[in-house]
Amino acid sequence: MRLEILTQKFFTPFISYIWFMKKIEFLKPVYSIQEIPKDNLPQLLLCGRSNVGKSSFINSIFNTKIAKTSSTPGKTRSLNFYKVDNKFFVVDLPGFGYAKVSQKEREDWNKLILKLISIKTSIQVAFHIIDSRHSPQDSDIELNEFIHSQNIPYFVILNKIDKLNQKEKSESVKRIREYFPELILNENLFLFSAINGFGKKEIVQLLNRLFSWIFTQTFLLLTSKKLSLIIFGKHKWA
Ligand code: GDP
Repeated sequence: MRLEILTQKFFTPFISYIWFMKKIEFLKPVYSIQEIPKDNLPQLLLCGRSNVGKSSFINSIFNTKIAKTSSTPGKTRSLNFYKVDNKFFVVDLPGFGYAKVSQKEREDWNKLILKLISIKTSIQVAFHIIDSRHSPQDSDIELNEFIHSQNIPYFVILNKIDKLNQKEKSESVKRIREYFPELILNENLFLFSAINGFGKKEIVQLLNRLFSWIFTQTFLLLTSKKLSLIIFGKHKWA
């Protein structure tokens, strides 16, 4: 069996069981391309329309109050970088589809986001948060197409699920799948509420799986390089 398959099959479930996210810290707001952190850490890109609940998602998942929530749309003017356990970044992307920003401001955001996504030195995963009560808007459809075009692993979080009854929940899932047929419930589509914690366990497990797999790979790569150095000598890796 190849090493990667072995790792994925046996080692990752073990690691994802024992690894859990402990500490999230706000690193900095990024307003320009030069300010994007140079650290080569994996990134969780948190995207979705303004006021959809991105900050509330961070606070709920990481048991914190670090992200500023607001009932007024469009407050975010920066890419907000958070660091989790020194292992990966959560990048809160500015609200899409918010009408009250100038054309210039929107173009600047788009450039910044494109630049962030084009820096392929780090692994990126996208969580697209969508309000479960509404159909995806044009900006959500654009975002979905854009992320797919960049080959970034893509997950949709249907949030504010506390506002729906059982029947409405099923309708919401059905509706989103009409727009994005690639979505499968509990695989790349998750229901969530930041208010009552619905779906939180599944998303924490997903994060553990996503990022511990990456760490496991990196760990094994480094370890196997070290082992090879010992076994084969330095010239092999020079
Ligand atoms: P952001 O602009 O995407 O960061 O959105 P915020 O996290 O600031 O949330 C916008 C508003 O939606 C706030 O009034 C939140 O309290 C509310 N909100 C966020 N998540 C939920 C949720 O799961 N359920 C309910 N009922 N309200 C939510």
